[in-house]
Amino acid sequence: MELQFEVFTDENGMYGRECPECEGYFKVKGGTGLDSDLMTCPYCGIRSSTDEFFTNAQVEYIQSIVVNEIGKLVHKSFKSLERGNRKGFVTFKVNDRLKRLPLKHYSEQQLQTNTKCDKCELEYAIFSVFSYCPDCGESNTFQVFKKSLDSLKKQLEAYTNLEIEDKDFLQEVLEGIFKNTVSKFDGLGKQLRDKLPTPLAKKRSPFQNLFILNKELTSHTDIDLEELVGEDIFKEVIRLFQVRHILEHNYGQIDEEYIEKTGEGFRKIGERYLVLVKETSFLLDTTERLGEYLYSQLQ
Ligand SMILES: [Zn+2]
Ligand SMILES: [Zn+2]
Repeated sequence: MELQFEVFTDENGMYGRECPECEGYFKVKGGTGLDSDLMTCPYCGIRSSTDEFFTNAQVEYIQSIVVNEIGKLVHKSFKSLERGNRKGFVTFKVNDRLKRLPLKHYSEQQLQTNTKCDKCELEYAIFSVFSYCPDCGESNTFQVFKKSLDSLKKQLEAYTNLEIEDKDFLQEVLEGIFKNTVSKFDGLGKQLRDKLPTPLAKKRSPFQNLFILNKELTSHTDIDLEELVGEDIFKEVIRLFQVRHILEHNYGQIDEEYIEKTGEGFRKIGERYLVLVKETSFLLDTTERLGEYLYSQLQ
């Protein structure tokens, strides 16, 4: 006997999958990505046969189809018995409900992130942000980082076209883009933590202090951020990270730590630092270069 059943999809043509190891739920779109019998869990990364990735709802649905078919067969054979027994001593009536045992239909769940793999073009949905591609297994860490910086660049472009008089408002928007750039780099660092040498891997935010990051990297690996971008650029980006620090923790007012770490003795303690578009743009470009280099070197 051969059974056929349809896989239900959501409004985007995606169907659910569930990891046999971590039980994480995700969705993939049929007809995109690779044609493979293997699948990678986007969350824990285990790779296994696609057959092992059925969701509970799908298994229950398939089981209900099997039970339904068996019900029909049983009904059919008992019906013939029923007829055969008409003249005998024993009579019984077969319940017609056997003919139509209920199917357990289901619908797929909503997930937070719809994404597409840069490498194999699989379209899939996950509840997290960072993941492995279910088809080719590639980590999307750099893709996520790059996209978030692209979005910040667009925001900066939009900012320069804003026609608003309120200077404080404008400054806050610009500072938001500036701070976010460092946050995205910081987030990349957390994703790459496992690949960093021990003193850095133990840090909560290994990429937040560029000076320490490079010091540890150069003493434990061949990676050298300063060598990549040159001394002047590296010094400037370290200074801008320090600016981010006072924006985040001191309303943008210069503190002793800032002067000590940047050597900018001409600034007054308590003076407000006004971030420039030029600096924000420089920060975005340099952070992207550093991130790309770190990601490729740490693989
Ligand atoms: Zn998993
Ligand atoms: Zn892929």
